[in-house]
Amino acid sequence: MCRHLGWLGSPVSISSLVLEPPQGLLLQSYAPRRQKHGLMNADGWGVGFFDGSADGAVPRRWRSPAPLWGDTSFASVAPALRSHCVVAAVRSATVGMPIEISATAPFTDGQWMLSHNGVVDRAVLPPSRLAESVCDSALLAAAIFARGLDALGDTIIEIGNADPQARLNILAANGARLLATAWGDTLFLLQRTDGVVLASEPYDDDPDWEEVPDRHLVEVGADGVQSTPLNRVKGTR
Ligand code: GLN
Repeated sequence: MCRHLGWLGSPVSISSLVLEPPQGLLLQSYAPRRQKHGLMNADGWGVGFFDGSADGAVPRRWRSPAPLWGDTSFASVAPALRSHCVVAAVRSATVGMPIEISATAPFTDGQWMLSHNGVVDRAVLPPSRLAESVCDSALLAAAIFARGLDALGDTIIEIGNADPQARLNILAANGARLLATAWGDTLFLLQRTDGVVLASEPYDDDPDWEEVPDRHLVEVGADGVQSTPLNRVKGTR
């Protein structure tokens, strides 16, 4: 995925996070401001959210291999979907990767939802029968799920060492925690009074957006926001 956004906080509408912000994922699907790799994100989109009506723990996904800007059904329903925890993404497929719904983030293991912004050599990833697609991001998601999200920092360091060209910006949430890595691409943090946003790029010109330095892991949870350099991580929590 080339641009992604995560939310952890009070329940808000999906539309207010994805469609309404002036430079949100909708605009980023055709005119991203900070994208260094690829021009636009027309190869699909996905929104994952944890369902408050089911104890806040059930992940639900709506994905499509078509451009976000053309989906009038989503635009119609998104204002009525509310959640306290969201992982959303728009995709610019890496050359050679399939354009299909199963290659579109967020990926899930039933507890976590995960998006990857970047590229990785599939030869350095373990084979997986659980990956949803042969897409590099789906295989990477399966590798991260297999190790567990508590090891996210260590997993990224190992894969980054195995493929020095890799860009490994991950965004993942489980309804109570929101994690993100900056490894080769941009990541921004916005601390609002009602919650925290982590996004590939700011969705507006609020001066409170903070850029996360490269090679860092950010964790948002009950203890607030923590940022750790990715050379120091050993078994995140
Ligand atoms: N490599 C992933 C894919 O093909 C993600 C692409 C990206 O971040 N631009 O979907």
